[in-house]
Amino acid sequence: MPDLSLFDLSGRLALVTGSSDGIGFALAAGLGKAGARIALNGRNAEKLAAAAERLAGQGIAVETAPFDVADRDAVFRAVERIEREVGPIDVLVNNAGVQRRNPFETFPEETWREIMAINVDGVFHVTQAVGGRMIERKRGRIINICSVTSELGRKTIVPYAATKGALRQMTRGLSAEWAKHNIQINAIAPGYIRTPLNQALLDDAKFSAWVEDRTPAGRWAEPEELIGAAIFLASDAASYVNGHVLYVDGGLSTSV
Ligand code: NAP
Repeated sequence: MPDLSLFDLSGRLALVTGSSDGIGFALAAGLGKAGARIALNGRNAEKLAAAAERLAGQGIAVETAPFDVADRDAVFRAVERIEREVGPIDVLVNNAGVQRRNPFETFPEETWREIMAINVDGVFHVTQAVGGRMIERKRGRIINICSVTSELGRKTIVPYAATKGALRQMTRGLSAEWAKHNIQINAIAPGYIRTPLNQALLDDAKFSAWVEDRTPAGRWAEPEELIGAAIFLASDAASYVNGHVLYVDGGLSTSV
């Protein structure tokens, strides 16, 4: 039998924000199968309960934590409750995020504020709420879900790319600040993944063909293809990996 204990997450508690669907759900399932207990999060309580039931059906120990990452008070209340009732959060995956597409010149201000509130402020709130406790414990893992647009520009999604660029810099800056507390902060930057967030693009045959042509791997990815990267960054195998952005993008960001 191979010894994979370096990647064993047994006994760890992972809070994955935005995990009632898409990438977050896949990562929650993957971390759960690697042994972690999961705190599952989303805004819609019904959708969250259904997702938790699916995980429990796979034998994963799961708790639900319904809150909006943009609501600072709700975030702090939820983190306090999770830590009191379930246990210390060992792994935080900052995954919750939204996409809004519109030409920049007519991008509505309220939509700009909405995307910033969720994709950037949300990470600020949750990371502060959990990170302070990790500092006290002198251990923790934080994985931020970035994007190829953390680095690359693209028309009609300038605000989204700005949020993901910010997240890349939060990953690096926080790593510089908190590595001394034995907190490893890294990011995963997915390429084009088949999730509800991209339904409009998946339904657009021309766009979908562009993705297949532009991506060296020649296809969209399934959310489950991000699991290995998340287990690695959450596990003892990554104890000296800090401030890294791990691209899981079929080669998109390293090719023209
Ligand atoms: P998705 O399919 O739309 O799922 C988003 C999840 O987040 C849902 O569970 C949603 O549930 C939850 N959520 C949204 N806003 C929230 C909030 N304010 N507070 C708490 N939960 C919230 O999205 P996805 O494609 O899986 O994307 C997940 C992350 O990966 C995002 O950060 C996205 O930017 C990033 N990403 C995605 C791709 C891709 O190709 N799909 C590529 C690069 C990066 P509720 O609506 O019920 O809250």
